[in-house]
Amino acid sequence: MRRKLVLIVVDGMTPETFERAVESGRAPALAALARHGEYSRATSVFPSLTPVCLSSIATGATPDEHHIPHLVWWHREERRVVEYGSSFAALRAAGMAQSITDTIYTMNQKHLSPDVRTVYESLDDAGLVAAAVNITCYRGRTKHLPTLPWVTKPAYGPPRFFYYSLFESDATGAPFAVRNRSAGSIDAYAAAVGRWLVTRDGFDFLAYYLSDFDYASHAHGPTGAEDVALARVDASIRALLDAAGGLDEFLDRYAVILLSDHGQTPVTEVAQLEQSLTRHADSVVVAASNRAAHVYLLPGARVDAATLARTLDGVPSVDVTLRLEDGVAVARRDGADGSADELDYPDAARRAAAALANPNAGELLVSAAEGWEFADLGGRHHAGGGSHGSLVAGDSIVPVLRIGVDAEVERITDVTPAVLSHFGALARR
Ligand SMILES: [Zn+2]
Repeated sequence: MRRKLVLIVVDGMTPETFERAVESGRAPALAALARHGEYSRATSVFPSLTPVCLSSIATGATPDEHHIPHLVWWHREERRVVEYGSSFAALRAAGMAQSITDTIYTMNQKHLSPDVRTVYESLDDAGLVAAAVNITCYRGRTKHLPTLPWVTKPAYGPPRFFYYSLFESDATGAPFAVRNRSAGSIDAYAAAVGRWLVTRDGFDFLAYYLSDFDYASHAHGPTGAEDVALARVDASIRALLDAAGGLDEFLDRYAVILLSDHGQTPVTEVAQLEQSLTRHADSVVVAASNRAAHVYLLPGARVDAATLARTLDGVPSVDVTLRLEDGVAVARRDGADGSADELDYPDAARRAAAALANPNAGELLVSAAEGWEFADLGGRHHAGGGSHGSLVAGDSIVPVLRIGVDAEVERITDVTPAVLSHFGALARR
């Protein structure tokens, strides 16, 4: 009989961290899984930021297909900024109530293209039960009412759906998710729900998303996070193994794909990208956060993308700008236009093309230089810690462990096809 499948996504864990964790013995649950699986590295999408990456993981689609462009972007039809949570200050700057609604509901109900199918929807079509814990790309067909009495709007997720204590398809007794983020309460919530689900074997497919490592890596840097959060990641994975009665019992029941959504690199410098474009301020909207930005031309703009790109020549925070000229991706670097093929970054041409062809993308995309971060709408940044979002390898390469899953995962968009093919559900897409 085909095993069920658990997808574990550890946000922001680099391949180096995964490899050190397994070799050093600091993460015994990860190491035990690694001994039974095939390890490789895969490439993320661009911008390498969580809403874009998780949408790609959970749909198998690239950003031009799923339409989620960044953590922050300009909604042309609604003439407003969409902000999915760069920081508390950025949420406040974009409008707190609107931003919370965008993050919790609208990203899945409206922004995620109706033309792509999520892994949960495809498994539902195949008569299989999907479960999702905390993953921000959750769109499914089952209506879930919020747990808080003063929030009334439903969300549509997979049949088993758990989202930061706000939506809970089942009463699991898990502690409140957001009581102490920096102490790991979100992954502790995920672990409690995961334990409950595995104890009951209550799913065919489980998407188990652990966000706390990325949070620690932003604060302490990708290496420093290992001291702060690695043990907690391992404990959250061990909770699943223990709930099954141990590693062997867990692997008897479940195949596994474990990966991260993007990497992280250390940042020491911070730039306000819009300050480099002040002379075009009335023609553009700059949506910048972490290590990537979209620059949007407003209707009637008295400047074009090529001119904006030249304006950013010599700006130290800017590594590469990308734009379309006659439908072809142009990468400008060191004051010269070139082809995205020539960039020596992982999968650069494909990732650049998919980012530019997203209907919600700006006319000019900016990938930050090593060590630099763009301040968000609220002026916040992670200088002194870690960040991600750019085309560089450190932001873009992720570890992948497969146990009992045949299909290879070379890109994060290969995860959903690998899951569907594992269940023999691929033909139904
Ligand atoms: Zn992050």
